[in-house]
Amino acid sequence: MRKEQTGVLLVLVGPSGSGKGTVLKELLRTEEKTFLSVSATTRSPRPGEEHGKHYYFLSREEFQKLIEEDGLLEYASYCGNCYGTPRKAVMERLERGENVILEIEVQGAANVRRMYPEAVLAFILPPSLEELRSRLVGRGTEDPETVSRRLETALKELPFANECDYVVVNDQVEEAAESLRGILRASRCRQTVMAERVRRLLEP
Ligand code: 5GP
Repeated sequence: MRKEQTGVLLVLVGPSGSGKGTVLKELLRTEEKTFLSVSATTRSPRPGEEHGKHYYFLSREEFQKLIEEDGLLEYASYCGNCYGTPRKAVMERLERGENVILEIEVQGAANVRRMYPEAVLAFILPPSLEELRSRLVGRGTEDPETVSRRLETALKELPFANECDYVVVNDQVEEAAESLRGILRASRCRQTVMAERVRRLLEP
């Protein structure tokens, strides 16, 4: 029997330094039945990052094995490391009617759109390029070469905003999070999500 309503898969995209993580934290503070997917990555943990909480930190061999087992919903390489979304946990939550958020880069988002057309894509736009630069430098967790590589990648990612369903400017974190709450709520009322419910009412 089909579920009356599935959850929403919300994909948050935006360059490193756009503040996606901060907005997301604010959103999750209040939103019920909404979960952030924990990605797998081959990058090394930053200070304070924990395995299983921030990422599953894997070796290249372990990551490759996951790909071969079809265990990833999407994956991509970014600034020399691999990142991917474990498929099982996401699909189970969606089927239970819970919302799942993916915080990923643009190649992965484009892949999700192809493979899961019901996904909703929201791009988090930094208020300005100066702000983006100062957030990347101010973070202080990366060496100057990595910062400039990330900035270069960020500029290449900006046009993807035009491929998304929504664009949210992260000027004020609370406001940006409020916009995402609205997007989630509206997405749960989409006809494609509600079709089964409508069908049941129409049954003789
Ligand atoms: P960071 O190294 O700063 O944690 O992440 C670098 C980039 O990889 C960010 O844009 C982040 O959103 C993205 N990312 C994190 N997890 C995934 C994932 O599972 N798949 C893809 N495609 N990108 C990811």
